[in-house]
Amino acid sequence: MIGIYGGTFDPIHYGHLRTALEAKEILGLDQLRLVPCQIPPHRATPGATPAQRLALLEAALADAEPGFRIDTRELERPGPSYMVDTLESIRAEIGDTEPLCLIAGLDAFLQLHRWHRWRDLPGLAHIAVLRRPGAAPDFPAELRTWLDRRLASDPGALRTRACGKIHFIEVSQLEISATRIRAALAQGLSARYLLPDAVLRSIQTLGLYRPPAA
Ligand code: ATP
Repeated sequence: MIGIYGGTFDPIHYGHLRTALEAKEILGLDQLRLVPCQIPPHRATPGATPAQRLALLEAALADAEPGFRIDTRELERPGPSYMVDTLESIRAEIGDTEPLCLIAGLDAFLQLHRWHRWRDLPGLAHIAVLRRPGAAPDFPAELRTWLDRRLASDPGALRTRACGKIHFIEVSQLEISATRIRAALAQGLSARYLLPDAVLRSIQTLGLYRPPAA
């Protein structure tokens, strides 16, 4: 099974990497693809350019984790990066039978009903939602019955079919966000230990997220 972990990665940090690894292990993924998006339809324009965000991802994966890959198709596609288009294009490559699983943070999942063609997503992939242990999410009414019909409590169920199931996985929650990293660097503070040193070095080399010139 292939896992698809999308994001802006502006920059990639340990919150992404650790949850991606835990998701890979819990779901038994053969491959975990980090998919940086081009123009995020649901958020403000990111601070680094697509090429710079890609360079940071490459720095993060230079110390290779088996099965981790970067999938650049959204950066190569003009216009907004809709996940449904991405999954359709991956499906076209891997065929109809290989299990595919979209991995989304709970914050992203709670907004799923606002995504472009969101009702088509389960026809293309499973969805694994990364959640904080204990917290009971309050789902929007629009999502609740749609979700109940597809819920799988056993992650093994996802490997027995190509798509269509939704499974919640409890992962370590690291209170790290790219916003916080950009803010620290913009104030001239250290972001060390929030992200790999190799990514931090690339940020410095590329001159990203610096304090405004005096
Ligand atoms: P920003 O602060 O710029 O909004 P971010 O750190 O939330 O960025 P994104 O690239 O927007 O990172 O996130 C991509 C995916 O990673 C989302 O599904 C999000 O829920 C998840 N994610 C981000 N940070 C964490 C974290 N610390 N722990 C678990 N999941 C995370």
